[in-house]
Amino acid sequence: MEKNGSCAESFGYFGNGDAEDVMRWALDRFDPKIALACSFQHPLLVHMALQIRPDVRVVAVDTGRLPEETYQCAEDIERRFKIRIEWFFPETAKLEELLKNTGQYGFKKSVENRKQCCFVRKIDPMNRALAGMDAWMTGHRRDQSSAREGVEKIFEDPARPGVIKICPIADWSEQRVRDYLKAHRLPYNSLMEKGFRSIGCECCTRALRDGENSRDGRWWWENPDNKECGLHVPNWQI
Ligand code: SF4
Repeated sequence: MEKNGSCAESFGYFGNGDAEDVMRWALDRFDPKIALACSFQHPLLVHMALQIRPDVRVVAVDTGRLPEETYQCAEDIERRFKIRIEWFFPETAKLEELLKNTGQYGFKKSVENRKQCCFVRKIDPMNRALAGMDAWMTGHRRDQSSAREGVEKIFEDPARPGVIKICPIADWSEQRVRDYLKAHRLPYNSLMEKGFRSIGCECCTRALRDGENSRDGRWWWENPDNKECGLHVPNWQI
């Protein structure tokens, strides 16, 4: 498939590397222990997966600080595809402890605080969403940030040893994503029309400025090398 094809082959994949081919292989290979994580920029992967497997498991994390537009997008997706998304939430006791220690905006005071918030609000719930899964799929693309430029389509998740991570559109451009959404008349997060490209918690996401990469609107007050929440980073525990 691409320069990292040998990596995919080590997992038994010998296809042509196209997104749908990769997804079809993953859904066949890992069913029923595979989930699709939806972050609500757009439902491209949901649309693709449902055509292959109508009962694919779609999971999402509600951090408690998502923008209203994201909930609306989730609602649009459920209505359009007649599915029910499985939501996972932060554990109350952990959230209360976090706020006791750092306050509501502690994540802006240090990278450590920010990672702690992301752990409690995102990673821990996602770990529960993926418990018992052998594989999961995300919409990561190489052009989203320097931290993602080497992402492969099929690899062992460094943050979850033994679990295979599938990124079917890793080599797609933003324009190709837009073309797909348009061709299939898919709903998308209305914040995309206001300059937002990578949409997370409301308080940690802003619209892009000219010349910025799609992840530059996330945690913009931090060093660019920190533009991940830890969902995809190895050995990241508090
Ligand atoms: S993105 Fe911001 S508010 Fe959301 S979990 Fe991470 S630090 Fe907390």
